[in-house]
Amino acid sequence: MNMIFLGPPGAGKGTLAAMASKSMGVPHISTGDLFRAAIKNETELGKKVKDILAEGRLVPDDLTVALVRERLSLADAAVGWILDGFPRTIGQAEALEAIAAVNLVVNFDVPDEKILFRLTGRRVCKACGKVYHVVTMPSKAEGVCDACGGELYVRPDDREEAIKTRLSAYREQTAPLIDWYGGRGSLATIDGSGTPEAVYREFARIAGV
Ligand code: AMP
Repeated sequence: MNMIFLGPPGAGKGTLAAMASKSMGVPHISTGDLFRAAIKNETELGKKVKDILAEGRLVPDDLTVALVRERLSLADAAVGWILDGFPRTIGQAEALEAIAAVNLVVNFDVPDEKILFRLTGRRVCKACGKVYHVVTMPSKAEGVCDACGGELYVRPDDREEAIKTRLSAYREQTAPLIDWYGGRGSLATIDGSGTPEAVYREFARIAGV
């Protein structure tokens, strides 16, 4: 099954995509993670997008679509996939339509106050990428990853100025995709404000898994 997880930053798309990927045996493809890996490895792409990510702006469609096209051509994507954070513009959705059919678009609906709480409290392991929250999902030892002992950090785009930019990019460029996919009959909106387990149960019901 080919799926898209849609929603504002902090909606829980990444957490839910990781859970669904594990239980359904399809790859979790996060364009944000792919860009962050390119930055960490100092590739040509990484150098181009570093400042864009730090400021919370959207990477241009041509770079983003090329990255996704390449990722979807890998062997593991033949069984299906979950796209997390792509598409984020109508242009990207049109480009994806020409690459592959999408079976289900899940739109995670979360109120603004909750999004801010989630993003400002988010901590991420530098080494393995595991995500924590200082209040709702703290690590056992402050600043240290439970899973691998790596150092926890605040994503540069989880700082207040960048959060504002990301939320306005979402409202202006990404939210119109809700109607775009709604008109194609592949959209399901679910309440993303509960615990990951509660949201997953609702997702599993809708996806029939
Ligand atoms: P995320 O981890 O999904 O919040 O993405 C982090 C950042 O990566 C975004 O704020 C953008 O700068 C960039 N990014 C990720 N996905 C896309 C996309 N589909 N289009 C443009 N920029 C993206």
